[in-house]
Amino acid sequence: MPSRYKYCIVPLCANSTFKTPDKCFFDVPRKLDIREKWCKVMKRDFEKSTVLSKTSVRHVCEDHFNLEGDVCNYMQCKLQGGKMRLKKDVIPHKFECQRQDQKNIIRKIEQNKRQDLKSKLKDIETAISSLKDVLITKIFIQEKGEVSGSHKFIKTGVQSAETFLEMF
Ligand SMILES: [Zn+2]
Repeated sequence: MPSRYKYCIVPLCANSTFKTPDKCFFDVPRKLDIREKWCKVMKRDFEKSTVLSKTSVRHVCEDHFNLEGDVCNYMQCKLQGGKMRLKKDVIPHKFECQRQDQKNIIRKIEQNKRQDLKSKLKDIETAISSLKDVLITKIFIQEKGEVSGSHKFIKTGVQSAETFLEMF
């Protein structure tokens, strides 16, 4: 039986009758206070939501329910088919799709941290290598017995490189 196109209104859930035709889609209750409750749990802004503020027919897919426990005619539908009906007062409670998004955000933060550390490490390496250069020049000049003016200049160089290293 062909039915009209439905999509899940849970933010970050991509299920629709086109993409996931085998999934079951439940009507969002029309009573405003219950709609508001549903919006809250699915992290959808009820006030700003243009698709939900009216009494329009909207849907939430089965991924956000535990069908066996939440559907009152579950066994009957399994055996004979038909439209599943949610038990009274059942609200969507599974949001795996949103958890996945949180995981991605955490992964991104970790990645940035690693990159940050890498660039810090690079800075340290640069500092060490310039410190080495300064020391080599210092030794070289000392051996050559250069004038004291150069010594002062090199001393400042060593000091600033040391200060820089202390920052880490
Ligand atoms: Zn969904």
